[in-house]
Amino acid sequence: MKAFREHVSERLSRIEGQGLRRHARDVAGPQDGWLWVDGRRVLCLCSNNYLGLARHPALLAAVREALELDGFGAAASRQVSGNMRLHRQAELALAHFLEQEAGVLFASGYACNTGVLQALADRGDVIFSDRLNHASLIDGARLSRAEVVVYEHADIDDLRAKLHAHRHRGHGALVVTESLFSMDGDVPPLRPIAELARAFDAGLVVDEAHALGVLGPMGRGMCAEVGVVPDVTIATLGKAFGGQGAFALGTLEVVDLIRNRARSYVFSTAPSPAMAAAALAGLRLIREADGLRRALRQHAARLREGLHALDYRVLSGDGPIIPVVIGTPEATMALSSALFERGLFVHGIRPPTVPAGTGRLRIVPIATHTTDDIDHALSVFAEVPR
Ligand SMILES: *Cc1c(COP(=O)(O)O)cnc(C)c1O
Repeated sequence: MKAFREHVSERLSRIEGQGLRRHARDVAGPQDGWLWVDGRRVLCLCSNNYLGLARHPALLAAVREALELDGFGAAASRQVSGNMRLHRQAELALAHFLEQEAGVLFASGYACNTGVLQALADRGDVIFSDRLNHASLIDGARLSRAEVVVYEHADIDDLRAKLHAHRHRGHGALVVTESLFSMDGDVPPLRPIAELARAFDAGLVVDEAHALGVLGPMGRGMCAEVGVVPDVTIATLGKAFGGQGAFALGTLEVVDLIRNRARSYVFSTAPSPAMAAAALAGLRLIREADGLRRALRQHAARLREGLHALDYRVLSGDGPIIPVVIGTPEATMALSSALFERGLFVHGIRPPTVPAGTGRLRIVPIATHTTDDIDHALSVFAEVPR
């Protein structure tokens, strides 16, 4: 046997050799449009804090009040130490907002997706999964032990062909997609996907992590925008909501099955009641945030046009996520560092997060940026060597 420490060093060197070793920078102070990072004042273009709510006074006040009334710890899994008042309230409010019957909170989107897919599918079932689905959805499908059929990204013809080819297999089927893809920033054809799922008796699971709060009427997401009610809606509270955690919504029975079977729910301490309070406060803010959503849209459009005019390879789309494809991991990270040296905090995305050869900058403005901030960013993109 190889000595354990030697094994660890070798693995790390291999990651380093592939240009894929990850280092996170240190941030002082709250997440916002401008940050102190590694001792430098930089414009933040890499967070999912889309509406700038992470430090909103109303959110902080709600958390303080919850700490006073309900304490911080949830003490155990809810099956064990019970549902706290704020868990129930947040679940009801979120379900109501998205016109579903019931909801269940999780400590994170990762825990939610692994739990929900594992709970709703089983050996013998089939999960049809978009090629670009988030790692948490991929892992949830694996945990379920169902057969996983990957269809080409947002490709309705491929999904139809695969549903057709498997129509006599398995006991049950799920179609799983994001509604705004996190690394490509595009939106799949949700209505045709929903119609196909129904035609083949498959359940539809839509992960609205990046769309909720940002897109659709009152920020109700892409499904509301196109008039689809999926069998299961998943969304996170750590992005536009400015908090932490996630939730799944569906019928009373679907949610009951998740509560009974999702291992990340049953065998995990419930989220803090303060987190549920932040969800409720975030929801109140998001309902009223048309002005912030308009600002975010305008900033994104200005950045897209400006980057395009500078001959950057901007992937098409019109949401708040602006992917600029660079290529190799080394070139991607070199450009990200050069931008940082010039005061722009832009994250480079490498495999395995995105397919090999498509290393990219993932540029995301925040609603609370000013137009001057955006123009400043574009002037840096114009002068940085590439
Ligand atoms: C971020 C994200 C998750 C994970 O949510 P966390 O709360 O960060 O764990 C799940 N799905 C998608 C599509 C995401 O982008």
